[in-house]
Parts: sequence; C-alpha cells; structure tokens
Amino acid sequence: MQEIIVKLLLIVVILIALGLLITKKNDMNKHQRKMLIRILIASSILLVLQFISIATFDILDDYLFVSSGRILRFALYFTDYLIIGHDILKKAFKGIMNRQIFDENFLMAIATVGAMAIAIYSNGDYVEAIAVMLFYQIGEWFQSYAVGKSRKNISELMDIRPDYANIEVDGKIEKVDPDEISVGSIIVVQPGEKVPIDGIVVEGDSTLDTSALTGESLPREVKVDDNIISGCINMSGLLKIKTTKEFGESTVSKILDLVENASSKKSKSEQFISKFARVYTPAVCYSALALAIIPPLVRLLIMGVDAQWGIWIYRALTFLVISCPCALVISIPLSFFAGIGGASNEGILIKGSNYLETLSKVKTIVFDKTGTLTKGVFEVDGIHHNKLEDEKILEFAALAESASSHPISKSLQRAYGKEIDRTRVSNIQEISGNGVIAFVDNHKVAVGNDKLMRSLNIAYINCHSIGTIIHIAIDDEYAGHIVISDILKPNTKKAIASLKNAGITNTVMLTGDTKKVADKVASDLGITKVFSELLPEDKVNKVEELLKVEGKDKLAFVGDGINDAPVLSRADIGIAMGAMGSDAAIEAADVVLMDDDPLKISKAIKISKKCLRIVYQNIVFAIAIKLICLILGAFGEVNMYVAIFADVGVMILAVLNAIRCLFVKNL
Ligand code: ADP
Ligand code: MG
Repeated sequence: MQEIIVKLLLIVVILIALGLLITKKNDMNKHQRKMLIRILIASSILLVLQFISIATFDILDDYLFVSSGRILRFALYFTDYLIIGHDILKKAFKGIMNRQIFDENFLMAIATVGAMAIAIYSNGDYVEAIAVMLFYQIGEWFQSYAVGKSRKNISELMDIRPDYANIEVDGKIEKVDPDEISVGSIIVVQPGEKVPIDGIVVEGDSTLDTSALTGESLPREVKVDDNIISGCINMSGLLKIKTTKEFGESTVSKILDLVENASSKKSKSEQFISKFARVYTPAVCYSALALAIIPPLVRLLIMGVDAQWGIWIYRALTFLVISCPCALVISIPLSFFAGIGGASNEGILIKGSNYLETLSKVKTIVFDKTGTLTKGVFEVDGIHHNKLEDEKILEFAALAESASSHPISKSLQRAYGKEIDRTRVSNIQEISGNGVIAFVDNHKVAVGNDKLMRSLNIAYINCHSIGTIIHIAIDDEYAGHIVISDILKPNTKKAIASLKNAGITNTVMLTGDTKKVADKVASDLGITKVFSELLPEDKVNKVEELLKVEGKDKLAFVGDGINDAPVLSRADIGIAMGAMGSDAAIEAADVVLMDDDPLKISKAIKISKKCLRIVYQNIVFAIAIKLICLILGAFGEVNMYVAIFADVGVMILAVLNAIRCLFVKNL
C-alpha cells in the first residue's frame, strides 16, 4: 500500500515539476530553476529505483562478491540522496562549524542521515530518508517562489521609480540621470512619462495620473504654478517643470526608501518568532535525544526486556522532522511584508512592521483640525472694522505672511492674488499658534489671532461671525480683521463614521483655532471630545494626558505636520497627511497618507487588523499541528512520511495565507 502511494506521489511531483519548468520558466530565477531540475532528477531516480526489488540486487552477489548487491543498492540511493540534499548537509555542517547549530538544516540533516543509517543497518527502506529531503526541498522551493513572486508583485505595484529626466539642450531633449539634476533646473516631462523630480510647473498644462502614489484613480489637473510631485504619470500635455528638490529628496525616492526599509523595523510578533525558534529548536533536539536514549534504557535496565533501540531512534528522528519551525519563520515576516506592500498600493505608507502591529491595537484617534479634517484652504469671507481699504489690509497681511507655510498664510496670499515683492518685507517672526509679526514698508505689521493681539497689548474688536478671525495691527494700532473660513474635506464625515466600524472607540479633536469654530466642526462630524485654542506645546501635553489613560490600548494622532510634528512623534502612532503636509511631518510620522484622504485612516487600521489576524492564525495553526504531531510521534503513531507532509503542508498553507495580506483593495 505505502509503496503504491510513494510511486504515485513521485509521479505527481515529476509531472508538476516538468509542467512548472516548461510553463513558468521565465517566472523563476536561476537558483529556483536549478533547484526544480534537481527535484525532477532526484524524484525520477527514486521512482525508477522503486521498481527494482531487493531480490534483483541480491542476484549480483552470485556474480561478484558477497554483499555487492547490497552495496550497489546503497550507492544508488545514496547518490540520489546527495543530489537532492547535498546543500542542506553542507549548510548543516557550516552551522555546526560556526557554533550556530540548531536550525532547520541541522534538523533535516540529522533526521535523514539517521534514517539512512537505520536503513543501511537493516538493508531496508532508503526511500524514507530521501523522501524527507525531497519534500523538504519542495517546500523550500515553493516558499522561495511564493516569496519571490509577492516581492515582485509589490515592486510592480510600486513601479514609480523614474529612470531618467529630460532636459532641453539647444532645442533638443536629452535624457539624463535624475540624480544629476540640481535644484532649480527646468526639466521636460512628455505625455506618458513619469515625473522624476518634485517641482513647480512653469509651462504647459496637463492631467496627471497619481494612482501609483495615492491609490486615487481620479486624474489631477495641473497648470502653470502648480506644485507637482514626482512619481505621477503625465497623461496629456507637455510640461516644463522647475525642480524644487533634488532627486534623492523628492517624493519618489523618499517613498521607495520607506518601503524598502520598512521590513527592517521588526514587529513584536516577528521578534517573538525568532526568539521562539532560538529556544524551541534546541529544546526539540534535546527531547529527541532523550526519546532515543531514555525509553530503551528503561526497558533494558528496569523492565528487563529488549531495548528496541531501532524503534526508539526512529521515533526520535521522526520527532526531529516534525519539529521544524519553518512555517512560522517564513510566513510571519511575509505577512507583514505583504501587508505593507498592499497598503502602499492604496497610498498608505507604513514605515515598519512594528507600526502595522501597533496600528491594529489603536482605540483612540486624535485629530488635528486644519489641514487634516478640513481642507486647510481658507476663503476670505469678509474684512471688518478696517481702518484702511480692504485691498490695503489684505496686501499688508499677505506681505507679512510671505514666509509662512501655514495654510492660513497661503490662503491670504492667494486672496491677495498679486505678485509678492519680498524686498518690502523684513524681520519676519512667526509665533506658532499665534500668527506672524513682520515689517512691511517699514511698518510693523502683526497678523494673527486674539492671543497675538493680547500679547502685544493691542485692543482688538471681537467678531461675531463664525470663522477663523485674523486680526491685523499696523504699527501697534488695530487695523481690523479678516474673517476666513475653511471647509471640511469631502470624505471627512464618512471617515469618522467608518472609524467606528474599524473598532475605534474614541475620537478627539485638537486645534489652535477658536472654540466657536472647533465646536462647530466637531458637532458636524460627531467627534465627542474637543480641545480648542491650543498652542503647539499644549497639543503635546493633551496627547500625553490622553496616553496616560489609554493603558494597553494605543493612541494615534493624525496631523498635517504644520505646528504638530512633535505630537506626531509623541503619539503611539503618528499619521501624517503626505501630499499637503510638511517634510517634517513625513519625517516624524509612522504612517503617511499620500493623498490626504481621511478615509484612508480607517483603511490603514483595517489593513493592520487583517494582517495581524492572519499572523495569529498562522501562529496558532502551525503550533497546534506541530504539537499534535509531536505527541503522536513520541508514541510512534506518526512515521516520517506523515511528519514531512505535516511540515511542508503547514508551511505551504501558512505561506498562502500570508499572501492574503496583499489583497486590501476592498477592505
Ligand atoms: P490647527 O490646530 O487648527 O492646525 P494651528 O495650531 O496651526 O491650528 O494654528 C492655530 C491658530 O493660530 C490659527 O487658527 C490662527 O488663528 C493662528 N495662526 C497660526 N499661524 C498663523 C499664521 N501664519 N497667520 C495667522 N494666524 C496664524
Ligand atoms: Mg494644523
């Protein structure tokens, strides 16, 4: 019975290996191809040997010397064993020489060499040792193929690396290495090409495909003076772009760096597994040794019966085969890698496995308001109580704000609408959470909120409109205020609602804006806790207070990095808006949302939960099967075939399960 099954299995292996070699040749690397050929040869030889009986070999004894048949039989099987297992034996030997003995190579080598030895002794079944090696190698091959494939998938998904940049020389376009382009150069991006370096459009208009960066399928229109980030694909018109960054500092390079280095930040589960393997493998080896020695000695010395050394040594070897921890060692890092890859394809950059893990435990999310929940693009609603013409007030405000990167400043400059002559402005001083003070045409201009006015002892007039009030004082005299207002991002409301689905129990908003505006936004969105009129350092303190009551649950802070980079790094997880956010934010954050869409927050959490669920499934599944087999193995209920199938089977299932982490589109 067993012989027939072995023959059938070998035939199946040969057919599959042949099929793969022919159809998937280009999908494999050189090593995988070589290994597959070895598997094919070894299993064919084994199959042929299965059809020659021991009696056939024994005939040789009559023609040559005694035992020559037995020796030839061993030689043939041993050659086959070396074909399939020589590299494992070599690695095990190297491990012993380097005093890093206990790894899966060692387990496999000891188990199969032991099985070989038993077979030589009894002139019995060599198939077992070879089959164990063969199926172990099949498992290894499968794993390397699957991992290679998912890595390739991820890098295809992340196919944003530009190979060249075009510059114009004497009316002709020349391709150059993007690394050689200095800041402020003009590059040309033709339709169909990737934008290689971040910059500002100086000529032309077009639509951009940003999907590789943001997962957002809607094309984006760009025209002269628009900022453009690298990695997008230019779809329609020719664009000339003035670069604002070097290639290495551009969005594409940063993203690729992030994704490539993400797996070096190990999660707790990964650390657990490598620690586990370090303790587990030696423990198993010593148990196997005990299983080989103690029961026979007990039988011999205490019970006074036959020791049955052969049986117990065989059981010990089976025990070693079962115990190989490869399913865990391979599938867990792969799950995290796939999860991070899948997320980046959705425009969510997660900087390490550890962050993915923490993200799955988040219960409280704290939001910054401006730029995070709202667009951060303020419109001027009115100019009140002004002592000058509207135009003049706006001009002073825009000039004083000329150096600030705050959304308010950007909006005032846009509302002013004219070219800003920076030579008219000097001594600019930005007081975060308050506003700016600067000299414009030698007048001292203060632009900011009531806090700023109070600190300068300027009597200001309260405004009754709801909106962000920007007071202006010229030469320490109150000149009036501008009412500006911001609107919610289109997805904000949906985003807050979907967080509840993702298991978030607490939502909190922090803002430097006035209580009136903050309360309105919060009640529109259904955010329960609001803290307003905070200075940047107050935001850090508030988050620290919230962290104290969190206990084991984790807290995430979502911000745009303008006045909140310290908070991003203080929270358990900092999530930054990448497209609009400052570089500091992207640096300080652990998770970056490429398209600033707040809906991606719940998506990131769902991805992390799926990924962790798969990791735990694999841990429990693999350890449970191992334990059951180990116990059965110790009682002699499992032979080596079952053992190797348990091992390779569990590994294949675990790897397939891990690859599910890649699919996050519909979460
Ligand atoms: P948020 O917490 O909503 O992101 P910030 O902490 O960035 O807000 O700013 C808080 C408040 O400080 C703003 O609402 C505004 O009143 C004032 N402010 C900050 N920076 C500026 C600036 N550059 N110009 C004018 N006002 C500013
Ligand atoms: Mg902000």
